[in-house]
Amino acid sequence: MNADKTVLTEWTKKDQDRQNLHLQRILDRIHVKTKRQASSVVIFDLDGTLYDNRPRTMYILRQIADQFYDQMPQLVKAVENGEINKLDNYEYGLDASMARLGVTDENEIKLAKSEWSKRFFTDDYQQYDVPLPGAKKFVCDVYEAGATVIYLTGRDVNMLVGLTQTLRMCGFPVGVVGTMTMTKKDFNQDDGMFKDEVAAYLDRLGEVVGIFENEPANSNLFQKNFPGATSMFLLTQHRPDAPALDDGITPIRDFRILDL
Ligand SMILES: [Mg+2]
Repeated sequence: MNADKTVLTEWTKKDQDRQNLHLQRILDRIHVKTKRQASSVVIFDLDGTLYDNRPRTMYILRQIADQFYDQMPQLVKAVENGEINKLDNYEYGLDASMARLGVTDENEIKLAKSEWSKRFFTDDYQQYDVPLPGAKKFVCDVYEAGATVIYLTGRDVNMLVGLTQTLRMCGFPVGVVGTMTMTKKDFNQDDGMFKDEVAAYLDRLGEVVGIFENEPANSNLFQKNFPGATSMFLLTQHRPDAPALDDGITPIRDFRILDL
């Protein structure tokens, strides 16, 4: 990894060994606590943490290109030349993704944005998200070890049905004893404030032993609130204006425990 701890450039055996060590440490700690009848809690963010949501945008843009064929020649071209299918073209923001796909016409951008936001934040399209490698297995291991699994997401409650369905479809434990899903009350609730409010609640719920996030601001906030937890940062995508990651938070690329 390079000096910026929030960006994945190269991945070495040393990085993988550290990822293995910290993931295993969380599981071991849960086992010890469960044996003593003590509670443990692990927090998983969804977008950019358990899930890669770029395929959701990819699917939506393909659909828009099809539906507005005559009005979107640049986007249609991205379908024809295959650029729309390359995940690497999808940046954190839709503007940057459109630029990479070769869509520069203002009217096309405006139409694509408006159609994209009608779809992206709804129940129906979350099924196109893809779990990160090892995510399902690790969450199942955490659950089976006896920790309470918390899905803590910036998605709002209007997306709850779709997100529950997608978690279940992908084999994550959801809706059963030992799991909890926390969404924002409404779309406009500030992400940071929401997670701050949640932190106070979680504190009363049990001992937080593991935290998984892909936004540096949230990672820093949780580490401050739960200094005893193993805090992991997913090297996926995050806001471009994010703060630096605080010391003591471990960057990981996915959820696999493996030998390189
Ligand atoms: Mg996220």
